[in-house]
Amino acid sequence: MLFDVAQLLKEGVGAREGYSLDEAVEALQESGTTRVWGNMTLTCTDKGIWVSGKIEANASGPCSRCLNPIEYPVRFRMEEEYLPTVDLGSGMPLEVPEVKDGAFTIDSHHILDLTEAVRQYFIVNLPMKPLCKEHCAGLCPRCGANLNEGGCDCSAQVDPRWSALLDLLPTGKR
Ligand SMILES: [Zn+2]
Ligand SMILES: [Zn+2]
Repeated sequence: MLFDVAQLLKEGVGAREGYSLDEAVEALQESGTTRVWGNMTLTCTDKGIWVSGKIEANASGPCSRCLNPIEYPVRFRMEEEYLPTVDLGSGMPLEVPEVKDGAFTIDSHHILDLTEAVRQYFIVNLPMKPLCKEHCAGLCPRCGANLNEGGCDCSAQVDPRWSALLDLLPTGKR
């Protein structure tokens, strides 16, 4: 996810360029992500390059209710400013105070690398409880049957907490 922004920086404040992104990525172990895609606009500001994008990535893992393996998209909007670390004209290092605070930077060859920012946005936007479908019925808490695939016999059985009461009924009415 590398972008050469030398030309944009040269054009100066207000210059902008649209890019589309579609890259295979090494699977993030926790999410099974293999691809990131989307559209972004890079705009030259008085401080650096403003990145504004709509990004999407694939993810996979178990449904949080029924544990079936599922594939789901992770979508997010990204707004981030990247600061240059060298002067475009002279190539001399720039003192950028924000860089010490962990701001994203453009390297000395004017390459803007989106990878780390995308990774951070992705993790923040990963659903805590992904579902195979909105109303996933989940698993039976007693026998573990997947209730999306039809019922189990548990619901037909009498709750053991009531069986003592049933014993009080006359035999014929049980
Ligand atoms: Zn499910
Ligand atoms: Zn059951």
